[in-house]
Amino acid sequence: MDFSIGPEIQMVKETADKIRKNLEGKRNYIFEKIKKREFVYEIWDELTAAGLLGAIVPTQYGGSGLGLLGATIITEELAKNAIGNALFILTICAQSCVIRNGSEELKRRFLSATVEGKIKCALGVTEAEAGSNTFRIKTIASKKNGYYVINGEKVWITGADVADYIMLITRTTPYQEVEKKGLPKMFGLSVFLVDLKSKGITITKMNTRGIEGMNQCVVNFENVEVPAENIIGQEDQGVWVLFNGLNPERILAGASAVGLSEYCLRKAIDYAKERVVFGTKPIGAYQAIQHPLADIKIRQESTRLIVYKAAWAYDNEVPPQEVMFLANSSKYLAAELFMSAVDRAIQTLGGAGFLEDNHLILLMESARLLKTAPLSNEMILNLTAEHILGLPRSY
Ligand SMILES: Cc1cc2nc3c(=O)[nH]c(=O)nc-3n(C[C@H](O)[C@H](O)[C@H](O)COP(=O)(O)OP(=O)(O)OC[C@H]3O[C@@H](n4cnc5c(N)ncnc54)[C@H](O)[C@@H]3O)c2cc1C
Repeated sequence: MDFSIGPEIQMVKETADKIRKNLEGKRNYIFEKIKKREFVYEIWDELTAAGLLGAIVPTQYGGSGLGLLGATIITEELAKNAIGNALFILTICAQSCVIRNGSEELKRRFLSATVEGKIKCALGVTEAEAGSNTFRIKTIASKKNGYYVINGEKVWITGADVADYIMLITRTTPYQEVEKKGLPKMFGLSVFLVDLKSKGITITKMNTRGIEGMNQCVVNFENVEVPAENIIGQEDQGVWVLFNGLNPERILAGASAVGLSEYCLRKAIDYAKERVVFGTKPIGAYQAIQHPLADIKIRQESTRLIVYKAAWAYDNEVPPQEVMFLANSSKYLAAELFMSAVDRAIQTLGGAGFLEDNHLILLMESARLLKTAPLSNEMILNLTAEHILGLPRSY
């Protein structure tokens, strides 16, 4: 077992630090944009210019071929300085589906454009009625001559108002038909890349919070025509494509949470070393302040290990069931870690923890979100109990 990280991936840590320095002078401006839920193009442009959108893309399509482990470490390093962008993660998810399942034509067209930062991609899975039960989605794609016609509605779609494309999960065989024919419920899903400027798409912002600087949207599709070559993988077999995007999403969400836990920890430590209330010792000298922070550090290291292992497993194509278990476990543990880290950091800062300028109270929302999305902690426990422990399905 070798825990060392290769020199190419080591280099991206330096790149992430360069981005931090480049954005240093714009901190207040970025913070104001985030508060107003406006997309921070400056961060996107920095990520693109540094070539980070090509992390998982093979070199023949213009990327650097670092794999998901590379993207994971980049995401963590940026998050350590509270630099993040949900569309960065979601675009990588779409890239991974195209790399593993897309046609050669789609790879050439889509991958290089994403590496150049020309395509930001949202992810469209959730529907109001279906909720956590993705198999029950109703958005339907019907095949015509050379194209598909899409009708339906997605909710909670992060960044649909600023993205260029959406990786959309549809049914090509309705759920009722699948049930009637006694087919497995995972049959009949298909995945498409849809240009968000297509005729028939309406995007409405929702009044949600949770991902800094990003809006969630309702995206309605009314007779939207999508070229047949924009399907990723085989018609009706989209569930296998989807796992190639959802596992990276959970792993990268985990990496981001590990990085942000470090951001919270550093804020707390810096404050604890300076703040003096009783006598001459800083509050950081008290065990009541030290121990919870030390506890976060220990849990952070173990969570980081599972996040890296999950990314390694994905890159090395270990059996999908195992990748899914590791990816879900990463998100589960990282959500709990981040939540504790932000809570302890706020506690350490006392009243100052609630000042918006200290950022922590805003990060509390992001930490809380991770327990619910992209997949709720309850659903992760359900999947683990059923598929890993072999216990009866409970619902
Ligand atoms: C800020 C934000 C951003 C999002 N971004 C996106 C996005 O970009 N793209 C996208 O497709 N979706 C997105 N989502 C949707 C998100 O993935 C869903 O909200 C999440 O998966 C839960 O689905 P739901 O809200 O329908 O909850 P429901 O399915 O209605 O569940 C409600 C509660 O019941 C629990 N529950 C449900 N079934 C079971 C069961 N069998 N056993 C135990 N507990 C159960 C759930 O865990 C949850 O706590 C986003 C959501 C938010 C809030």
